[in-house]
Amino acid sequence: MAGGRICYVRRSSSSGRPTSSGGRTPRPRGDQPEQLGFEGMPERLFVCTPSKLGSYTDCPRRYRYSYVDRPTPVKGPPWAHNSLGASVHTALRNWYALPEAKRRPEALPVLLKGTWVGEGYRDGEQERTAYRRALQWLESYVETLEPGVDPLGVERVVAVKTAVLAFNGRADRIDARTGPNGPELAIVDYKTGRTGLDVDDARGSQALALYAYAAERVFRRPCHRVELHHLPTGTVAAFDHTPESIARQVSRAEDTARDIMAAERAVTDGADPDEAFPVAPGPGCAWCDFRRTCPGGAGAPAKEPWAAVERTLLPVTPTPPPVSPATE
Ligand code: SF4
Repeated sequence: MAGGRICYVRRSSSSGRPTSSGGRTPRPRGDQPEQLGFEGMPERLFVCTPSKLGSYTDCPRRYRYSYVDRPTPVKGPPWAHNSLGASVHTALRNWYALPEAKRRPEALPVLLKGTWVGEGYRDGEQERTAYRRALQWLESYVETLEPGVDPLGVERVVAVKTAVLAFNGRADRIDARTGPNGPELAIVDYKTGRTGLDVDDARGSQALALYAYAAERVFRRPCHRVELHHLPTGTVAAFDHTPESIARQVSRAEDTARDIMAAERAVTDGADPDEAFPVAPGPGCAWCDFRRTCPGGAGAPAKEPWAAVERTLLPVTPTPPPVSPATE
């Protein structure tokens, strides 16, 4: 799952076509008559993760470089913000692997050291500063966790099929809670970037909506709640989806999958790969792994691998208490 990643502004599906489900919750594939393609063969499902879909939505060319071109074009060096995010995520995963009695703040330095990824930092001093800051985040965060309560899943893979998608993804955490109507699930995603997050980020996250859709079917329990836990500020941005808002996100994901499959088919049929997967230059190019090889990234400013972490390590202005949940 994501950690410390730079978030780009995402374009809507390039097809612009109306959503296929009309706001109704798409039925899992098992409930639907098999779609038949040519020669009686079942229509191919698009196997995907949230990052695969997001990559195409951000930039079709980046998708091609990541998932189609082989060998994969040479990437830039590792980013320190990815290292920081991965370290914190793994430390939290290992926190829950400890017996409950050992989940004490004193355990955190060992956990964090054991999972620390040191790639991309400017120098040892910056890395040590990042380590100390990450430890502070973790110490503050575990104070907010309810003792004796185990999540239903930690870095849990959930998978589901629709008429178009074979989706799978690894949720940072899936909590079992009691809602107004009984047992329910909540999807929790940890964030470690500098910028705080709000309810719009939680509402707009296709990844979180897809996790909720999948978790509800895997565990056969309602799952509408999605939360972004921002460790640097200790804030939670939460959103309670409706069946309709989940359906819209699933439908958008299916539209993206159709666009990708159409582009891949076009290339197989002889189309120019550069036209089938066009560049989408924008602010995200500066943080793109393929900036150096992509013509679309030629004008983007070069960022040092530690640039985002440098900003993250600046003193943080405290932000107000957790954002109130909302419904769409
Ligand atoms: S550099 Fe920009 S245009 Fe090129 S693949 Fe990356 S995001 Fe797309």
